[in-house]
Amino acid sequence: MSEKYAFGIDVGGTTVKLGLLSVKGELLDKWEVKTRTEDGGKNILPDIAGSIKEKMKEKGIDKSEITGAGIGLPGPVDETGLIRKAVNLGWDRNFNVAEELSELLDGMKVKAGNDANVAALGEMWQGAGKGHKDVIMVTLGTGVGGGIIHDGKIITGATGAAGEIGHIFIQEGEKDACGCGNRGCLEQYASATGIVRLLNQELEASDEDSMMRHVPVSAKQMWMAVEKGDALSVRVAEKFGYYLGTGLSIIAGVLNPEVFVLGGGVSMSGDIIMPFITKNFKEHVFHASRDTMIVRATLGNNAGIIGAAKMAID
Ligand code: ZN
Repeated sequence: MSEKYAFGIDVGGTTVKLGLLSVKGELLDKWEVKTRTEDGGKNILPDIAGSIKEKMKEKGIDKSEITGAGIGLPGPVDETGLIRKAVNLGWDRNFNVAEELSELLDGMKVKAGNDANVAALGEMWQGAGKGHKDVIMVTLGTGVGGGIIHDGKIITGATGAAGEIGHIFIQEGEKDACGCGNRGCLEQYASATGIVRLLNQELEASDEDSMMRHVPVSAKQMWMAVEKGDALSVRVAEKFGYYLGTGLSIIAGVLNPEVFVLGGGVSMSGDIIMPFITKNFKEHVFHASRDTMIVRATLGNNAGIIGAAKMAID
């Protein structure tokens, strides 16, 4: 019997998203299980394996029809599937996730990768990067994550830390520390948290009236205020655009991708964010990269399961 299906798994700190895909990339079914992080996270992989076996039974799918399973994880994962301590999963040891999950699935082929890299692969395959092979995804959420796809493959790096775009040093003299311990990281200006930080600084600096003084301060609210022309919010958007646009120009200088795909919560605020980024990108980038496309992601939360399945199919 020929291989028709692949499973995609996206492990988060509270839920594990699972998907059943055709090898052509259609998402046939998706569901979730709870991430049980207690007891050193020892139940996480058995729960996933159990859920996949149950799904195969429910759908009447034979093992011979499955090409494999891919799993995206919140932490650095190397080429072989080895993860180094994923604290938010309760895992405090280094171990080979791909091998352990494969064993639990009775020898099914399993590939493991970092979640941001895997999402980038998903966007390349079926999302905003479709039709391209050199794609860089930047996820603008609570932090800033990234994934680099070159010639259709994830660039993992020596220790699984390639694509850690959020921690590129971009500002001298920053007083606040980034989550990573350094000061002046891109994430401190371009994440949703970073936007709120810049916004609060701007609000404290003067008594200037702003729509943001009358609503709960959030990145989402700020972009709505930008849309209505709120001067203070526009200034913050310009700062955000300066840092992110400049950051992308630095990355383009190294990797010269065909397209940047922007995902995560901040990208959901819509096309309003784009001109602030592209203006600074074009100003700072090397001329041969000036026409690099910068687009918003299209797969949303499904990027992880779709990219994970693609890893297993390749
Ligand atoms: Zn950092």
